[in-house]
Amino acid sequence: MATLDALKLALRRQLKAPASPEHHPLSEEQYSAGFDILAQETSYEDFVIPTLSQLLAPLFDSRIRVSVLEIGPGPKTVLGHLPDHMRKKIIKYTAFEPNSLFATRLEKWLCPEPPADPPFSCLHNPPAIHRTPFTADMADTFTNDSGDSPRFDLVLFCHSMYGLHPKPAVLRRALSLLHDDDHHHHHPSSPPPLAVVIHRAGLFSHLYTGGGDGLVAQHTATFLAGVVRVADADEPLDRFAAFVAGCAAPDSDTLMKWRAVCRALGRREGVAQVKLVFAAPTVMAAFAPHAATALAALAAAEVPLLLPSLRESGSGDADGGQGRAVKNVEARARRPAAIARPTAVAHVQACVRWALRCGVGLTVVGGGHGGQCLWSGVVGVDMAAFDRVHVLPAGYCGGEGQDSGPLVVAGAGCTTGHIIRSAMAAGLTVPLGARPSVGAGLWLQGGIGHLARLHGLACDAVVGAVVVSVASGEVVVVGCVPSEYWPAGAVRVSGSESDLLWAIRGAGTNFGIVISVTFKAYAAPTYSVRNWVVPLSDRHEARRNLADFDRLVAGQLPRRCSADAYLYWEDGNLRLGVTMFEVSTAGTGCETHGCTPPPELESVAAILGPQTSSQKLDSVGVFDAEMYISGIHGGHGSGKTSSFKRCLFLQHIGDASIADILAAAMESRPTPLCYIHLLQGGGAVSDVPAGATPFGCRDWDFACVVTGVWPREQDGAEAARAAVAWVYKVAGELLPLSRGAYGADLGPDPRDAALAARAFGPNLQRLARLKRLWDPQNVLRYACPLPRAPMEPRLIVLVTGESGAGKDYSAAVWVSWLTRRGYEARAVSISEATKRAYAAATGADVDRLLRDRAYKEQHRSALTAFFQDQVRQRPRLPEEHFLEVVDGAAGVEVLFITGMRDEAPVATFSRLVPQSRLLEVYVKARDNTRRARGAQGCSSEPDPARSNRHRPGLVFDNDAAGDEAARAFAEHRLLPFLDEDLQRLAAMVRPVPGFPRQGIQFRHVLGIAQQPGGLALCAALLERHFTGRWAAVDAVACCEAGGFVFASALAARVGVPLALIRDAGKLPPPTVSVAKSPSHISSSASGHGDSEARIELERDAVPRGATVLVLDDVLATGRTLCAVLRLLGEAGVPPEKVSVMVVAEFPVHGGRELLRQHGFGDVSVQSLLVFGGA
Ligand SMILES: Cc1cc2nc3c(=O)[nH]c(=O)nc-3n(C[C@H](O)[C@H](O)[C@H](O)COP(=O)(O)OP(=O)(O)OC[C@H]3O[C@@H](n4cnc5c(N)ncnc54)[C@H](O)[C@@H]3O)c2cc1C
Repeated sequence: MATLDALKLALRRQLKAPASPEHHPLSEEQYSAGFDILAQETSYEDFVIPTLSQLLAPLFDSRIRVSVLEIGPGPKTVLGHLPDHMRKKIIKYTAFEPNSLFATRLEKWLCPEPPADPPFSCLHNPPAIHRTPFTADMADTFTNDSGDSPRFDLVLFCHSMYGLHPKPAVLRRALSLLHDDDHHHHHPSSPPPLAVVIHRAGLFSHLYTGGGDGLVAQHTATFLAGVVRVADADEPLDRFAAFVAGCAAPDSDTLMKWRAVCRALGRREGVAQVKLVFAAPTVMAAFAPHAATALAALAAAEVPLLLPSLRESGSGDADGGQGRAVKNVEARARRPAAIARPTAVAHVQACVRWALRCGVGLTVVGGGHGGQCLWSGVVGVDMAAFDRVHVLPAGYCGGEGQDSGPLVVAGAGCTTGHIIRSAMAAGLTVPLGARPSVGAGLWLQGGIGHLARLHGLACDAVVGAVVVSVASGEVVVVGCVPSEYWPAGAVRVSGSESDLLWAIRGAGTNFGIVISVTFKAYAAPTYSVRNWVVPLSDRHEARRNLADFDRLVAGQLPRRCSADAYLYWEDGNLRLGVTMFEVSTAGTGCETHGCTPPPELESVAAILGPQTSSQKLDSVGVFDAEMYISGIHGGHGSGKTSSFKRCLFLQHIGDASIADILAAAMESRPTPLCYIHLLQGGGAVSDVPAGATPFGCRDWDFACVVTGVWPREQDGAEAARAAVAWVYKVAGELLPLSRGAYGADLGPDPRDAALAARAFGPNLQRLARLKRLWDPQNVLRYACPLPRAPMEPRLIVLVTGESGAGKDYSAAVWVSWLTRRGYEARAVSISEATKRAYAAATGADVDRLLRDRAYKEQHRSALTAFFQDQVRQRPRLPEEHFLEVVDGAAGVEVLFITGMRDEAPVATFSRLVPQSRLLEVYVKARDNTRRARGAQGCSSEPDPARSNRHRPGLVFDNDAAGDEAARAFAEHRLLPFLDEDLQRLAAMVRPVPGFPRQGIQFRHVLGIAQQPGGLALCAALLERHFTGRWAAVDAVACCEAGGFVFASALAARVGVPLALIRDAGKLPPPTVSVAKSPSHISSSASGHGDSEARIELERDAVPRGATVLVLDDVLATGRTLCAVLRLLGEAGVPPEKVSVMVVAEFPVHGGRELLRQHGFGDVSVQSLLVFGGA
């Protein structure tokens, strides 16, 4: 199947010299007739409409009104397919449509006769349709009444740039017509106006020639599987061919030739009504106003840059310069806006900060073997300069007196070969992959090699990393990194550090730019390598041999051995190639085996026949032992071929369902060089639990690499396209039978979507949530796609209480009360997973456990013991259960969770759901009420509502019969948390990235006071949301400065005096004072803590034993609050007489947990607003 571009060339070749397209221009009618065929037969639903809607959503969401300029919309605009709520925002529509037939049809469509509805129903003025071409220098003809060029939020070229020249200048003109993006510069989270170009995939090669150097795209999406169809009949073919050729056929002879060309190049589809299909790979690129100037800012930061023109001329080609050759054929074909070549960590930071400022994405180049390391219109960061390997003897990074064993610290620009060679020189190795030139993408995304069954995957050996955070640009150290390899200014991140290390071990390309990783190292082995080749006469024989190989050979091997298989075609025969790797290390005794097959393999000859070769190799020599390098097809190592791979994880490859797909795939191979490679798993790979690293696919026998290969000179031609299509087809057939897909090399291409959805086993939701924390602006948007994290519920209510108090009943009443008021609410029991596991382990009846109270009570203590035992084995289990429940409630606004067993659950879990407000409601009832409701023997557990361990946010007294009290509770206690005014208040808190220093997203909470009506609104909300009785409050205690502002406004409202807490020395004696450790923001600003600081309160400001409300602006780490509570204690106010309100809480810093650790767990803390992130 030829592409439309190839068809165009072939059609034009039929024009007899000296006839040229310009001599036979299409009439408007001819153009329109050809266009109609394309419009009818092109499915915009596959790519253009969904991708455009997604791409424009942030722009439209951030604006009340949107003005649009469309260039060459044709008879209808694609914007008419946007969702209704987006179309309603379009208040100004201007178009340039030089084809007057189209312009007339467009006008009619936009302004239809009643009663039909117009597509843009909210236009302030009739659409302005200019019947002239849009040109780069059209200022004179395109001005508004005041003589200025009007400005737009969106300029769209939907397949209209073909006839516009020179394209870079046209695009620059379009950018100049966008509104200024000053606003965006000050608020990078606010989306800039956009010029969007939809074009055939070669767009960037046109944009980067003739002065388009370095245009930086805000977003690029490709749809390489796009096709157009045309009926195989003379008349439609004539219209179609003329449209594609861009000129009318000069004579009937040409017409006949054109028909023949179309029929020769198009793929035939259908039987009764045959259609000819042509490939129409499409790209959509969006540019912000600063697209043309953005690179200058990066260059100004002194980041070494290679521009496309230099790359083109060869002078800076990655091969020739200091950079790295990008091996991947797809990545090589792309046109990055520039390649940054950082030589220092600060350069990488500059790239990230630049990307954050401009709102653009970045790609990273490691070993250049992946398909996503370069992306058109995007700056690629080539890590080649970070190529140091340090091999460390045992003794580093031991925690708690333990020795970490030997380590290898490898820069992100290292290749596998470099690391292995360096380690081998010290008698060590690291489990990496099979090819020496592959880079960091391998160990950041998995890494399957010959040591996998013995030592695990490459990502399993990663114990630490240095990362430039794409959330902030700061250098972050996670896990074990010996101090001498910490770059200057590197910081450890508190709290969520272990999450980042976890994410890097298998999904690392999505979470930051990795500078180096620390590997656990192992003793260097030697390998005995043996090969077999078995001819297969037909599909049945293939099935039988695969089954025998799987069961009788691979399935019998000890973990020091692995057997890889190949299905390939050679000399007219399908063949099964097998390579067995036996690993021997000093001390295991295995080294004495030499080349003698392991005893388990005596029967192998009976199955595979005589081995064709065997050799003994070291860790470097084994690189050349790959059969696809040295064996099949005469060896590809020196051959000039290109390849494309996708990898799935399979069990039972000998089952007919799988073996038949594999054999059929080989029969339908589009080139003779395509093959299927099966790498053995099991052993140490499957020892690791699926959730222990993001690489969640662990239970497979073979990684099946479907490999399309074609001669390199056919890059970009039909053979390459067919090989890629074959890989996707086979992968698609295997996917439903597989245990998952390998994430390495998957990208945002829609063809990868189904594979990516199976890439991380059960870890997708956790990864999605971490992505939002660690890459909130999606800087690494071209890596293996993760789903968008579902919006966490606005309110999560943890319903606790003693058995029989009516927790589930109350939750059900609250859900139905809220649902009737239009909220999406749900109640879920968190203990269900435990009950199921318990039932499976003990044979108890799971249905009765879930539904029969008496039965549940019988099992209560055994169930508790079972759960505690599980937690001993998996300490993170409560968190996992909690997140499973939250993830399962996507789209729910208010989630009630019952069945919690955790002490102080808000303090424990709030860090995990920073976007939600977490609230504990303790349900209580008198003992006899509970007994009457079926609780057996009322426990003597202390009522946490009265205990000093922690105090629940709210207590619901559920003694009365009926649901009246529960409904009243929902109305008066729960509903206020959904108060729209809270959202108004939240909107007044301006985010300030990079203040007081890089890496911190400051929220200007105090800025509420600077907003019109802000202080009054905040004080009113504080008054309304206080759960105590104002009449009982003796004083409102507050610290300078934020606390003073809000407390003054509140105190004036509720008529309660203030108790002012100030830094030592500012208040007249007598005072009480305590030492104060610095707050989160002030310690960030100064860079060091001032541990000597003290705070004071006048001794008589509050009477001893008074009831006090502490009011502060922010709760982050909780250190200030701890000091205040200690101070009040000094002043004779015990914690039980204190309640706390804060305007904004940042749960990620674990403030509540600190309070609890300092013995203040029983103090009630209420926050008006809750913010995620730092
Ligand atoms: C010939 C060949 C042999 C292979 N053999 C094996 C094998 O034996 N075992 C195996 O498991 N896989 C193997 N692979 C797959 C390989 O793991 C992936 O192609 C991998 O993505 C390549 O990594 P790279 O660094 O070479 O490529 P790149 O394309 O440079 O990088 C791959 C991805 O990682 C990202 N990335 C790179 N560096 C960083 C960084 N410092 N920080 C953040 N992101 C980064 C890139 O942006 C890109 O998305 C092989 C591939 C090829 C082509």
